[in-house]
Amino acid sequence: MTAAKKRIIFCDFDGTITVNDNIIAIIRHFNPPGWEPIVEQTISQQISIREGVGKLFRLLPSSMMSEVVHFGITNARIREGFGELLSYCRENDIEFYVTSGGIDFFVYPVLEPFDIPQDHIYCNGHDFSGPNIEITWPHPCDGQCSNACGMCKTTIMRRFPAEQYERIVIGDSVTDFEGAKLADTVFSRSHLTTKCQELGLPHSEYETFHDIIRVLDKGKDES
Ligand SMILES: [Mg+2]
Ligand SMILES: [Zn+2]
Repeated sequence: MTAAKKRIIFCDFDGTITVNDNIIAIIRHFNPPGWEPIVEQTISQQISIREGVGKLFRLLPSSMMSEVVHFGITNARIREGFGELLSYCRENDIEFYVTSGGIDFFVYPVLEPFDIPQDHIYCNGHDFSGPNIEITWPHPCDGQCSNACGMCKTTIMRRFPAEQYERIVIGDSVTDFEGAKLADTVFSRSHLTTKCQELGLPHSEYETFHDIIRVLDKGKDES
């Protein structure tokens, strides 16, 4: 007899747990000269995510730290049903990880009310000690990823082998696509849905986390 695989969720943060993309919101709000071309180059994949995000924050002086942190935290809105999904995971012994390309100074405070263990949240770091804001990268790509992700979602996923885990990805953008390819189940919205459709990758669309709970509950006894 083989033991059933353990379900594990890898959930994106910006545009998934939160309604909007917080990095874009921060940069747009403080509006430092030169940010738009960097965003365009990042979205069109002319430069890597790591390079793009690093360059964007470097446009902001470290002296603005408290305003940037305050805006990042207060601007974020949580997508409906997130707390319920976490409860559902606890009740059903599903492991829940946040895999975020966001920055710790807003990701941790925004998630604080939800009691997710710190070591289940992966995101980028910051350094305010120089003249400009520097992003740090504690979770870089392993040898199997050459995308310069910054925070590498597939590197995290590979630590939970497909033989032991039923891997579930929740996301909203092209940065979730490589992880989606490794996953058994994909929950998508926005650009991730488009990308899955283009490449014929099975996915379930969601608008709130209630949609996801419904599908997880239906598939509960099949795995
Ligand atoms: Mg996202
Ligand atoms: Zn990577």
